[in-house]
Amino acid sequence: MPAIWDLPDFDSHEAVHVFDDRPTGLRAVIAVHSTYLGPAAGGTRFWHYGDSQAAIIDALRLSRGMSYKNAMAGLSAGGGKAVILANPQRIKGQAMLDAFARAVDSLGGKYITAQDVGMSEADMVSLSKVTAHVAGLPGQGGDPGPYTARGVYLGVKAAAKHAFGTDSLSGVHVAIQGVGSVGGGLARYLAEQGAKLTLADVNAQRATDLAAELGGTSVPADEIMKIDADIFSPCALGAILTEASVNALKVRAVAGGANNQLAKGPEGRILTDRGILYAPDYVINAGGIINVLRHIENADDAEINRRIDAIPERLFAIWSESDSTGQTPAEVADNMAQKLIGR
Ligand code: NAD
Repeated sequence: MPAIWDLPDFDSHEAVHVFDDRPTGLRAVIAVHSTYLGPAAGGTRFWHYGDSQAAIIDALRLSRGMSYKNAMAGLSAGGGKAVILANPQRIKGQAMLDAFARAVDSLGGKYITAQDVGMSEADMVSLSKVTAHVAGLPGQGGDPGPYTARGVYLGVKAAAKHAFGTDSLSGVHVAIQGVGSVGGGLARYLAEQGAKLTLADVNAQRATDLAAELGGTSVPADEIMKIDADIFSPCALGAILTEASVNALKVRAVAGGANNQLAKGPEGRILTDRGILYAPDYVINAGGIINVLRHIENADDAEINRRIDAIPERLFAIWSESDSTGQTPAEVADNMAQKLIGR
């Protein structure tokens, strides 16, 4: 196993903290990628990893992603991420949560945590009884989904403007993969604007019901990336843009809320070479984190909305630089984010 500095995802992390609390069985990693713009902020994931190296790599990858996302959203927050390693011997109980909260607290505010996969709202409330460094608690803005959905809607509108030169979404055909919190919210915004919708979800009933309500159509989940549409909006899983799936797309733009859409990275180049506009995921889906971090920004509702409204400006800047330099939108976004965090 290579030393941590030699892992490809290390990317000059400022610190990687590893915790092991014998009495409670807590094993956790807190990765702090950058505090250049402010405290490193990012959620805690409770997940069953194949081995401990996979957990460290996940923390590093997600932590860097948060640096880029927070910077591009104009937040005074750096990027970090925590992962807690689950296994049958390590059950998430109160004692373990308390031990994790002490671990977060021991960093003295350099890392601010929030909810992520495997952690409930009740878990976050429990952490907040031990450490002040928890964001997005109930009463501090609530569910990030609707905020993310609004930002993604504005991003889809921006993609239609850039790709087709239209200010109106009327008749623009959007295929949405996953109609949960983000995709469902997006579908409602788009329906209000007269867009033509094709929806898919592994929970087929969910897609069928929403399509019936909004006047769209639904297709089986494994067909949504193959249909002829104007815009494909991934709002379910990450890593769905593979070489094969990108080559099969019959759309002019990809703009959606899912995290880490490009499976390996080079798919961004195939999209550009095929003339398909791409909205970098961490730029278009920042509405939720903008709201989650409202208390460290001292932002009220008007300010939150103003920041979400700025998502299209960021996208237009990225696409215009991509058009003039030939770099892919993903490359341009990464370069912009790196400059913002002083790298
Ligand atoms: P969600 O669980 O509410 O909805 C996801 C939906 O996708 C579900 O209805 C699920 O059945 C469906 N789904 C899962 N696999 C699918 C597949 N293969 N094909 C079609 N549908 C599938 O989750 P969400 O909060 O809406 O998040 C969606 C995506 O957006 C995730 O990638 C998430 O990481 C990302 N994201 C969410 C937020 C937020 O604020 N909720 C913020 C940033 C990014």
